Amino acid sequence: MKAVCEGVYFIPGRDEMIPDAHMYVIGGPEASDLSLVDAGLFGKGAYKLDAIRRLGLDPARVKRIILTHTHLDHIGCLRELLDALGDVELWIHRAEAEPLEQGDPRTVYGMDMFRNLCEMQYGLTPEALTFKVDRKLEDGESVQLGGMAWEILHIPGHSAGSIALYNRSGRILIPGDVVYADYAIGRFDLHGASGPQLRESLMRLAQLEVDVLLPGHNQIMKKVPAGYIADTARQWAPYLF
Ligand SMILES: [Zn+2]
Ligand SMILES: [Zn+2]
Repeated sequence: MKAVCEGVYFIPGRDEMIPDAHMYVIGGPEASDLSLVDAGLFGKGAYKLDAIRRLGLDPARVKRIILTHTHLDHIGCLRELLDALGDVELWIHRAEAEPLEQGDPRTVYGMDMFRNLCEMQYGLTPEALTFKVDRKLEDGESVQLGGMAWEILHIPGHSAGSIALYNRSGRILIPGDVVYADYAIGRFDLHGASGPQLRESLMRLAQLEVDVLLPGHNQIMKKVPAGYIADTARQWAPYLF
């Protein structure tokens, strides 16, 4: 496997009954630091680590894990990764950092029915999904990852603390579960979600020049047509009130 585009690698999620979020690795073999964007479903840690090695990247160079948001399909295997990687930082938007540190299951599961199912079926406990956050990200911050400049955009709507990572020079957007390929968008009926906020967030992303769209699930897009996110936002606008 090679990079999706310079400095960004794609590790596809392996969905089960519950989806497993894609992971992106920022920073190539030459970079002094690697960043992982999103973890994935519980039980997928070994697969994701193995995939990093198969990309020819050394997990020992991972310095941080950045979460686009803290739904179960993105943080389920976070503990497995942190245990294996040792001293790495966890970066999350401020709005979801506090719930995650306090082990508030509402953000993680989104709805009680799903929480009950997971706790019964898989024996998950709130403690297992509680984490200390090293850096609480703010909208508009610019961060250096693997020698590339990335902007942090707070794009609530799918969840309260959803972020996108945007590399302006490469026109690369990692929007988490806010916008996907095939004119799809993230659901907006879960805890902390909001249709009007999602609409605003989509409008904001529509302003960006994006050639490469790397969402949390389903297909990735390497040649995004001009106006794609704007068209997606327009199609969904009647439902986002
Ligand atoms: Zn989500
Ligand atoms: Zn997801």
